[in-house]
Amino acid sequence: MADRYLSFTATGPGRFLTRRLGLPQPAALTRWSPERPALDGGLRHLTAGRSGLDLAPVLARTGIGPAGSGRAAAVVLDATGIRDVEGLAEVHAALHPVVRSVAAGGTSRSSAAESGGGRVVLLGAPLDPADHHQAAAQQALEGFTRSLGKEIGRGRTVNLVRLTDAPAAESTLRFLLSPKSAYVSGQVIEVGAGETGPGETAPDDEPATPVDRDRPLAGRTALVTGAARGIGEAVAETLARDGARVVVLDVPQAGQDARRVADRLGGTALLLDITAADAGSRIAEALPDGLDLLIHNAGITRDRRLVNMPAERWMPVLEVNLASVLRTTDALLKAGTLNRGGRIVATASIAGIAGNAGQTNYGASKAGIVGLVRSLAPRALAEHGVTVNAVAPGFIETKMTAAVPLFIREAGRRMNSLAQGGLPVDVAETTAWLAHPASGAVNGQVVRVCGQSLLGA
Ligand code: NAD
Repeated sequence: MADRYLSFTATGPGRFLTRRLGLPQPAALTRWSPERPALDGGLRHLTAGRSGLDLAPVLARTGIGPAGSGRAAAVVLDATGIRDVEGLAEVHAALHPVVRSVAAGGTSRSSAAESGGGRVVLLGAPLDPADHHQAAAQQALEGFTRSLGKEIGRGRTVNLVRLTDAPAAESTLRFLLSPKSAYVSGQVIEVGAGETGPGETAPDDEPATPVDRDRPLAGRTALVTGAARGIGEAVAETLARDGARVVVLDVPQAGQDARRVADRLGGTALLLDITAADAGSRIAEALPDGLDLLIHNAGITRDRRLVNMPAERWMPVLEVNLASVLRTTDALLKAGTLNRGGRIVATASIAGIAGNAGQTNYGASKAGIVGLVRSLAPRALAEHGVTVNAVAPGFIETKMTAAVPLFIREAGRRMNSLAQGGLPVDVAETTAWLAHPASGAVNGQVVRVCGQSLLGA
């Protein structure tokens, strides 16, 4: 579904008119491509407070060189050492002079070709339960991040990573400091301690296997549900790009599309309804060598306000979006189909976080995913060596959102800090980061891919 407004504002007359009318000015975002694998420009590394992180070698490995005195493609502010309100003065002192120099995305067709929006990444420390001054100052960074994200504009994003160990956060920093995170803004991501590194997927008694940078998922098998089209198709494509062997699961009615996607990606199609009681055992049977990445993407909507919603519209949404995710996850963990070092990524939605009129069923199902992730993540890691995270898309341009009535659709597209809808590939890139072998310290997170939607936190 084409975003005609975005195309219109990229023309001279369109820009002139929309500016005069005070309408949103979405900047063209630059996504990852083989020709543009990195941000265009340098990185500025700043520190506020006394940091104990050894960040420089990790930042050096992100592939972005240091910025000169001019424009920076990215600014990283290490604020992990801030322990009190006085320390917050240093956050202001560090960022106030440089925020204007963060590269802006193009607002015309020609400038869009030259630059994507830059990145601001703050690094914070976990809140200290024994020190409420530290906790207050560190929590302040969250409000700061979300506020700067809302005001910085022009395709620039602002995110906060809470960490204790720089190497454990490398995959996260590489993602945030790359074109792959173009539509991720206003997020707070917690990265645990780094006992799981790049070689973690090797069995305990074998030496760690180094990860191939271009094909980090080589040798892994990924199952993506609902992958015949839309976001699921993009996820399968991106995981295949990163080297995974993909299994494209969808309902038999979507068999033709599922086979087409699988053939294109050199994978296989698995046609079954994920709500079937035996779906878990059928998946396990189809994967005798086990599974590394389980991506729960299949989802449906049956919108109607609660007063008008019969049970026939309520239950199928809970079944597809939540019950089947719980059932297949349980079955595959129990059967030992998910290999150690594996990843589960489920699909929530901003509707499950902020709520949405007409979507009590859908909002409930997607909030259920958040609960599932929070509860299961620590246990799945401890017992099975598997991480569990969720992506929560905002307005993504797919057939699902193309079916939304025009005015609601237009509002959904613009009501975020980037003033545009995301693309399926934005959710896919976020999934690929969570699926990365070096993302073992990212667990129990719900990451919104919503351009910092104005709905919900
Ligand atoms: P889509 O309707 O384009 O694709 C969904 C796919 O899931 C289809 O191929 C469908 O056949 C498959 N599917 C449905 N029921 C199934 C079942 N019982 N078993 C197996 N496969 C089944 O949807 P999309 O827009 O690509 O959304 C993908 C996911 O992202 C969904 O979970 C959705 O709720 C979520 N999401 C989407 C948006 C958005 O803006 N598009 C926003 C938030 C969340």
